[in-house]
Amino acid sequence: MVKAIVGANWGDEGKGKITDLLAEQSDVVVRFQGGANAGHTIICDYGKFSLHLLPSGVFYPHTMNIIGNGVALNVESLMRELRSLEDGGVPMPKLMISERAQILMPYHVLFDAYEEERLGGKAFGSTKSGIAPFYSDKYAKNGIQVADLAAPERLHSRLEYICQLKNVMLEHLYHKPLLDVELLYDQLMSYRDSIWPYVGDTVTYLHNAIRDGKTVLLEGQLGSMKDPDLGIYPFTTSSHTVAGFGCVGACVPPHTLQDVLCVTKAYSSSVGSHAEPFVCELTGEAGEELRRRGGDAGEYGATTGRPRRVGWFDAVATRYGCAVQGATQVALTCLDVLGYLDEIKVVTAYEIDGELTDVFPVPARLERAKPVFTTLPGWKCDIRGCTDYSALPAEAKGYVDFLEAQIGVPITMVSTGPKRHEITRRR
Ligand code: GDP
Repeated sequence: MVKAIVGANWGDEGKGKITDLLAEQSDVVVRFQGGANAGHTIICDYGKFSLHLLPSGVFYPHTMNIIGNGVALNVESLMRELRSLEDGGVPMPKLMISERAQILMPYHVLFDAYEEERLGGKAFGSTKSGIAPFYSDKYAKNGIQVADLAAPERLHSRLEYICQLKNVMLEHLYHKPLLDVELLYDQLMSYRDSIWPYVGDTVTYLHNAIRDGKTVLLEGQLGSMKDPDLGIYPFTTSSHTVAGFGCVGACVPPHTLQDVLCVTKAYSSSVGSHAEPFVCELTGEAGEELRRRGGDAGEYGATTGRPRRVGWFDAVATRYGCAVQGATQVALTCLDVLGYLDEIKVVTAYEIDGELTDVFPVPARLERAKPVFTTLPGWKCDIRGCTDYSALPAEAKGYVDFLEAQIGVPITMVSTGPKRHEITRRR
């Protein structure tokens, strides 16, 4: 059976921690989209780790970790991450890289930076890790598959074709140094030496695992709002962040995906451009305080270190975010963070051009949305580390009940701290 764990919002919902919990009970954990452009923070028995590309099952000796065909494979990042596990005393994980995954090339990173530079103040706030140029090339059929690394002639002629195209842009649009086919070829050969022991046919592996009754966990990166079709375009990422895409990016049959666990935070946070509409935003001193108290060590990006924008829980966005994921259950994280507040607001509707709506609008209308709040009482005490849901203060449970009624999907877990076991099961 296949489960997916995905984000309902803008990413950074705390998926890392919940994934780590589920990974322990899974036979296979698969990354199906994105690349090293976002990060999970996992605090486990070995210490605190930021994972960007490796699946979260790497801390368990029994788990097979798969980098699926939908992933943007940055070989240098992957090797760095493997080394960081080794340095942290984590035993070498079981790892398999899809031979159909495509390689994020050094020029993808350059093109990302050149484009942001060209756009100047109108830039989208890219992490400059090459993700948009990578997926553009993939869909324009200018990508390089992992399996190409073992087909020298094919690889060389593809590189010649790609460099011809890229060099026109480098010369005339960006005015930057040109690409050299032979240098790129040599670099890819060194990539091959690094990753070849892990490369395999993950499609057959996964189909066999499902046939044999294994539990497969699809691990999503970012969240619904970053999906290029269903999110806040163009402030999105370049691969699909919804669970349904796991059927493509990991290649599992759609009917085997039985459980979609959506993660959402007890308040909102978003890393990225300030030009992006963020209806629930809390600014000024109140926003600073929430940012400082948020997450494990404040709301700062796991990959970029950038301060995240923060806001009240947005029920309009989260209900939609869960719906497009096909959520069957919800994990609510960071409830402990809100313990300092006298009252807590929740965005329960948007006002757009004088009209109220609780339906999440398209980006062109979202820009004009203003938040409409419902205010709930705070619980004014520290619940960090609580593991018994019934022991939570009545106001905290009331807050969770309210959010559940708003989003319309059962909240089954409530997380009360960054550590693995700081979690309560609700049903
Ligand atoms: P992800 O990308 O969705 O995995 O999210 P991140 O790991 O980037 O961000 C979540 C942050 O919140 C990390 O610093 C976690 O350690 C932290 N975190 C996760 N769950 C909780 C929780 O219940 N309470 C607190 N205080 N922090 C949490």
